[in-house]
Amino acid sequence: MVSDVLVIGSGISGITFSIKLALINSNIKITLISKSNIMETNTRYAQGGIAVVSNFKKDSFKKHIDDTLKAGAGECNKKVVDFVIKEGSERIRELILWGTKFDTNNNKLDLAREGGHSENRILHHKDQTGEEIQKKLIEKVKSFKNIEIFENHTLVDLITDHHTKTNHNKCYGAYVISKEKEEIIKIAAKVTVLSTGGAGNIYSHSTNPSIATGDGLGAAYRAKVFMENLPFVQFHPTALYHKINDKTFLISEAVRGAGAFLRNSKGELFMKKYDSRGELAPRDIVARAIQMEMHNLNSKYVYLDGSSIERKNWKKYFPKIYSNCLSVGIKLPSDMIPIVPAAHYFCGGIKVNENGESSLNSLYAIGECSSTGLHGANRLASNSLLESLVFSHRAAVDVSKFISSNNSLAFNVPSWKGEKFVSSEIIKEENILRKELQKTMNNKVGIFKFNGGLNEAENIVLNIYNQVTRLYNKNKLTQSLSELRNMVSISYLLIKQAQKIKINKGVFYNVDNEK
Ligand SMILES: Cc1cc2nc3c(=O)[nH]c(=O)nc-3n(C[C@H](O)[C@H](O)[C@H](O)COP(=O)(O)OP(=O)(O)OC[C@H]3O[C@@H](n4cnc5c(N)ncnc54)[C@H](O)[C@@H]3O)c2cc1C
Repeated sequence: MVSDVLVIGSGISGITFSIKLALINSNIKITLISKSNIMETNTRYAQGGIAVVSNFKKDSFKKHIDDTLKAGAGECNKKVVDFVIKEGSERIRELILWGTKFDTNNNKLDLAREGGHSENRILHHKDQTGEEIQKKLIEKVKSFKNIEIFENHTLVDLITDHHTKTNHNKCYGAYVISKEKEEIIKIAAKVTVLSTGGAGNIYSHSTNPSIATGDGLGAAYRAKVFMENLPFVQFHPTALYHKINDKTFLISEAVRGAGAFLRNSKGELFMKKYDSRGELAPRDIVARAIQMEMHNLNSKYVYLDGSSIERKNWKKYFPKIYSNCLSVGIKLPSDMIPIVPAAHYFCGGIKVNENGESSLNSLYAIGECSSTGLHGANRLASNSLLESLVFSHRAAVDVSKFISSNNSLAFNVPSWKGEKFVSSEIIKEENILRKELQKTMNNKVGIFKFNGGLNEAENIVLNIYNQVTRLYNKNKLTQSLSELRNMVSISYLLIKQAQKIKINKGVFYNVDNEK
């Protein structure tokens, strides 16, 4: 298959980019692929909303910029923070034009508040903002004739000089598993865009859906693309302790914004002990405080007490949380919600410039798989959807210029080699290795790290890597083996980068750095 632009990932970043590029130039052939169905993305599960300055009477760009820089703990790129926040308003206006509905109150946008924000500025659609955005973007992207969509197509590797036996430091498309054909096909493209999202599933407790296995990061790592800040993994403080359909369910920060308090297993309020902002301190502080209380009282969870929020407001603003809690026997507002922190968001990733270009020519990265400099060492709540919108626009403008001045495609892209067979024994072994990896990352590379734990994790992960390589060399490459290959590579890189961080900042906390 041949395309002008190959977009890998159908979340807010991949779809927005595709729409934007098609609007700029309807002659560009765009191929958009997703690993599962087009709807199944991290974007779909976003609850809280999008942070953007809209009430200029009370709020200002400066306040949003200051909040973002403060959360980022000195690691943000100030120029990027400045343009993302300022360009955000225009991008939101487009999203609304394309059909997204945000909640209003008296005909004005209803603005919520989340941790680390000094003003109410979060646009939301009940507690299902991501689902609303994802649905409206899908409707829009399907209206373009020059965008071809392939669901159930899994990126395996980027096509680079290594495959074409050239020397241009360039990406020429990707090798992709087609579920329907049960084979690995090549998609050659002038430009390739990674919008594959995060890698929460390298941890055993994650708010991310199962698609988030860091595939774009893994492929970029193998292609020697420059990556940064992987250890800046944000743990969401409040995931529901009970699993729903075997999945971790998030209790949005907006619930604390609406007045809910955290209590330890003895029923005591504790947040003010850790930070004067209490429940509305940034996520890293709240997550560490919760972990500390759980450790000190040897409890499996702490409680979120939402009794100050009236039942009618639970139902109006948080209908999904209300019904999901009810499904596991928690009646709101009278019952407290047992919660635990869970891996949530990768602040780092593929390093890109102000237009989303990576260190490999013709390869762009947008959304959660990228590291733009906006989040620094900690993402401010609800800034990631905004970042995706702004960078998708910038990347689309840049790619449209590149395509008009560059017509060459790689001709000598070889087909994928190595069709072998898959045995049920292999699948069993894969599952064991995946669980061991996740447990190691959770226990030794989680919210609190220690030098010794990182070293132990390095050895365990290296051993898992060797076993995965053995499976890879012996067997037909399946989607799950490809995912495991990415998860283990990313975990290893994350640990190696973590060992080098000697000063705690943002979400990163190594207990030995404090000694
Ligand atoms: C529960 C939850 C709540 C959140 N709430 C908020 C919020 O309120 N506000 C906010 O700003 N952010 C929030 N976030 C973060 C935000 O949702 C994500 O950072 C953002 O949606 C990422 O968008 P994306 O386009 O980069 O990737 P995603 O939306 O994750 O999309 C990734 C896409 O890549 C595809 N893909 C992955 N691997 C492959 C492969 N190998 N081959 C082909 N395709 C592949 C997937 O199929 C999918 O289509 C939340 C995240 C979660 C998990």
